[in-house]
Amino acid sequence: MAEYNDIWEEIKDKVTLVEEMERHGINLIPSGMKRLRCVCPFHADTTPSMIVNKGDVETFKCFGCQVSGSVIDFIQRIKGNISLFKVIQYFKSNYHLEFAQEYDLEKLIQKSTKRRTKNSIAGAMLAISNSVRPFLKNSPSFQEDLMKIKPYLRAIDEAAYVENMSFIQSNFIKLQKEIKKIKEIRKQIA
Ligand SMILES: [Zn+2]
Repeated sequence: MAEYNDIWEEIKDKVTLVEEMERHGINLIPSGMKRLRCVCPFHADTTPSMIVNKGDVETFKCFGCQVSGSVIDFIQRIKGNISLFKVIQYFKSNYHLEFAQEYDLEKLIQKSTKRRTKNSIAGAMLAISNSVRPFLKNSPSFQEDLMKIKPYLRAIDEAAYVENMSFIQSNFIKLQKEIKKIKEIRKQIA
């Protein structure tokens, strides 16, 4: 079983910040050996206040509004502060990332510490998505089943946004119960 922070490592390894910024229409100007500059997309910037550091790990920092981070922070912000779950989905669909490892929800929650909250939430979201996807895929009544589990998925997504791990956990348990219930009803009908 891989460590949960591998998700972000995998993303950072396969995706470059510079490429993502260009994809989002940001004009990058060379500014030194390993540096680029641009107009900050996160505040009403008139001068190029944002610095992009190239290298093994690419980072950005705006000297106007003080935002900074990696390609993950950039995508989360540029997409309108989307949840980490959606950030993962974005990278998955745009880079065909399969994420080599399976992520174990129980372990993720056990290992959750404040410093690693972001990583463990991302891992938890992936574990949830890995359990929901096959269920929906094999569903003979997809729309109906989706409607039943949607409130839990929404609650989980909102909890991920405010980084509330215990709320993610409690809703995941409810979600599992609902899925189990649906499967049992299906068995009775069959
Ligand atoms: Zn800024």
